[in-house]
Amino acid sequence: MIIQDVHIHSAFADGKHSVAEMAAAAFALGVDSLGFSEHGITDFDPKYSMSLESAPRYAAEVASEKERYAGRMEIFCGVEQDYYSIAPNFHCDYRIGSVHYVKKGDEYVIVDGGSAEQLLLRIEKYWNGDRMAMCEEYYSMVSRLPEVTKCNIIGHFDVITKLNELSGLFDTENSRYREAAYAAIDALCGADMVFEINTGAMARGVRTTPYPYPDMLCRIRERGGRIMFNSDCHHKEKLLYGRDVAVAAAKNAGFTEYALLTANGFKMHPIG
Ligand SMILES: [Zn+2]
Ligand SMILES: [Zn+2]
Repeated sequence: MIIQDVHIHSAFADGKHSVAEMAAAAFALGVDSLGFSEHGITDFDPKYSMSLESAPRYAAEVASEKERYAGRMEIFCGVEQDYYSIAPNFHCDYRIGSVHYVKKGDEYVIVDGGSAEQLLLRIEKYWNGDRMAMCEEYYSMVSRLPEVTKCNIIGHFDVITKLNELSGLFDTENSRYREAAYAAIDALCGADMVFEINTGAMARGVRTTPYPYPDMLCRIRERGGRIMFNSDCHHKEKLLYGRDVAVAAAKNAGFTEYALLTANGFKMHPIG
């Protein structure tokens, strides 16, 4: 298999290492193709995103690494564009669309951060304690990611289940949950999105399985959707973390091919 990872963060946002350090670590690991996907410009959460001023510097650093590794490792400049990020002020080879917040009134409520207790308090406050109502709102936003973010990849489809193994916060068998998630999958497959199998939460030690859940992967396959493998890496030592588990999850869901980002769009390759 060609080893590609296009969900990588750096110190331009909440990652630990510079663009150059991440590229060097990936090259040392034998990565064939690397994509930087820094958090898009998100004014209300500057700690976790690039700023208008830093974003062009990010693109310049990625361009210089692209040159450094030319002919040895392919490098793409992308962005992880949140639902509420503003339009990038630099050229993106690709965009990952993600929902990390739901806006309630003037508040941007984080749906994938903090502890389970904190998330429950937010659900109490903003959704009258109705967990499924939060899930429904989240998935309806996810289904609109293509038009809102102009993405071609869907980031961590069911990230709201991040703490489920530890807390059992959301009943993913609940019919309201499944209907909302399946409706999003159907819309996104109709929009020809690529779904990533994302091992980021495994690297953080809070899950033993990647996003999305197995039944979601099956639904994606049934609807003719495409998948790719990404680590959502924030630390150079976690590059490619859990790749074998992600590949096994794809196979278990019946996928025989994965999408590879190339300079000419996505190309399908057999899963080895
Ligand atoms: Zn994300
Ligand atoms: Zn990310």
